[in-house]
Amino acid sequence: MKRRTFLKGSAAAVGGAAALGFDLKQARAEMRELKIARTTETRSICPYCAVSCGVIIHTLGDKAKNVQSSVVHVEGDPDAPINRGTLCPKGATLRADINNPNRLFSPKVRRPGSDHWEEITWDEAIAKIARHIKDTRDKTFVAKNAKGLLVNRTPGLAMIGGCTDTNEFNYLQWKFITALGIPYRDSQARV
Ligand code: SF4
Repeated sequence: MKRRTFLKGSAAAVGGAAALGFDLKQARAEMRELKIARTTETRSICPYCAVSCGVIIHTLGDKAKNVQSSVVHVEGDPDAPINRGTLCPKGATLRADINNPNRLFSPKVRRPGSDHWEEITWDEAIAKIARHIKDTRDKTFVAKNAKGLLVNRTPGLAMIGGCTDTNEFNYLQWKFITALGIPYRDSQARV
């Protein structure tokens, strides 16, 4: 059957069912209930944009040690005041991104002169980032401006926050950035 024919047939069937007095809303609601009947609900934030919609992630799995739960459904959180259960098309496809086989789970580095990315541990990544921050700050720190005024700034660094950062995280991040004297900073968090 061609796709167009199938869609026509489906539309006719839905119209016919409604004409016969069947309440499809109830059938759809029951399908949804069946899908998430045995899942664990975890509240989270959509990572895509600054709107920061609340989501509920439904997972299946017995929570045994070394067993990874599988994400079977993601939907808007009706209790989140920002989106009240709604999601835009990007947020509505979150499950596909979470389960994407190409998703990165560990940091990677492309070393100077290398032509490929190498997987490294989080400890190594954090140590390297700290080293780069220290070296860059030492090289670019400006204690006084051209007029001789004390400015204590590090124009060689910039910082941008992620959209799922909470206000509390941003407070600490801002303190850290200010302590380093970084003048270029922004955050898209509205959580
Ligand atoms: S669901 Fe859409 S609007 Fe909401 S945070 Fe995600 S990308 Fe932004």
